[in-house]
Amino acid sequence: MQPYIGRFAPSPSGPLHFGSLVAALASYLDAHAHAGKWLLRIDDLDPPRVVPGAAQQIIDALRCHGLLWDGEICWQSQRSAAYASALQTLRNRRLLYFCDCTRAMLADAGGTYRGRCRDRGLKANSPMACRVRLDGHTIRFTDLFQGPQSSCPLQESGDFVVQRKDRLYAYQLAVVVDDASSGVTHVIRGADLLDSCGRQIYLQQLLGFDTPVYGHVPVASTVYGQKLSKQNLSPEIERHAALDNLLAALRFLGQTLPAQPQSNSAELLHWAVRNWRRDQVPHSMAQVYES
Ligand code: GLU
Repeated sequence: MQPYIGRFAPSPSGPLHFGSLVAALASYLDAHAHAGKWLLRIDDLDPPRVVPGAAQQIIDALRCHGLLWDGEICWQSQRSAAYASALQTLRNRRLLYFCDCTRAMLADAGGTYRGRCRDRGLKANSPMACRVRLDGHTIRFTDLFQGPQSSCPLQESGDFVVQRKDRLYAYQLAVVVDDASSGVTHVIRGADLLDSCGRQIYLQQLLGFDTPVYGHVPVASTVYGQKLSKQNLSPEIERHAALDNLLAALRFLGQTLPAQPQSNSAELLHWAVRNWRRDQVPHSMAQVYES
């Protein structure tokens, strides 16, 4: 059997809320139910978005829910050399170019980059974004929970940014490099990331990496259809209610709950691993969660 390596990769832009607990739990259960490892990566790639103390809050919240990871925590802020090397690979293959388009120009184009700088041969004498040159091929994959998917990054996003004007590496590049270097075989995460999956698989193909199995679980939303997220200041999950939070997350994931009450998180997780059913996870992109 191929070894299973899964991971949870929160951005420390706020404390752990119910939506991120669901993603953490789903990836933890799927990994353990397949005798796999479960890694923790802190996606602190983007200093302006990092909220001081949030990474530690997330780590503490995971611990007090019994969601213990294998090995060392990976911090994206310490991985610049790996991202630089991946960029160099793309540059050597002449797949990168500089772009000086402004936000206003991009907004005018309706969000899809139309390749204005593709053949301008710009030199980065001043700060400029760096984009990857795409061909028009379609990426197809089957998501464990959302079913067959197809995506054509050239049509959907256009040549996308791999290094920003402020020299920060783009999320799509960092995720792909990190998942590959930690040998991740299964990515279970929130469905809000489904639309970036095509770009990530595209980059994996360019960089010669294996594509993991993907499973996107529904995101938790308010009754008004707003996704629970750190950005919209969803409340931090209450740590003293770990058992109840885990039960609520299991219910959200369509799992059957134990008939007998479990006395602590570790016991409940143990039970949940043995009873994890992928086919019971709802196939929707979002689900209302009323706390
Ligand atoms: N760090 C990303 C987020 O919190 C998730 C990355 C991933 O799971 O691929 O939205």
